[in-house]
Amino acid sequence: MYDDNCTFCKIIKGEIPSTKVYEDDKMYVFKDIEPKAKVHLLAIPKDHFKLLSEMNGQRAMVIAYMLSKIPQIAADNGCANGYRLVVNQGDDAGQTVNHLHIHILGGENLPW
Ligand code: AMP
Ligand code: ZN
Repeated sequence: MYDDNCTFCKIIKGEIPSTKVYEDDKMYVFKDIEPKAKVHLLAIPKDHFKLLSEMNGQRAMVIAYMLSKIPQIAADNGCANGYRLVVNQGDDAGQTVNHLHIHILGGENLPW
């Protein structure tokens, strides 16, 4: 479930500090340390995997669950007027952390 070398697994376990905005048994949401918008959150499943191509049925259910929770989490954190979701996949997308994460960007009229 966890990868001992993964930054985001360490964040979930509390071994690396983070600014948590939401947590339940399946997912964890925290503020990005280098925000690219006024509001920049990262939503991660508690189960460690890197790519959407690694999803099995159980993981797909968790990702669907996360998408169902994100609208309320976004609204509660300054994105009531809209937001953008981004999922970087692999090297060409510049994925730097090998734990699937959904960027939630908003809090302003996004310039790009
Ligand atoms: P990506 O480029 O899609 O892999 O995004 C990784 C994101 O994780 C970047 O936006 C980083 O700023 C963010 N990040 C990396 N380490 C941390 C950390 N310890 N706490 C919060 N955000 C982090
Ligand atoms: Zn991980």
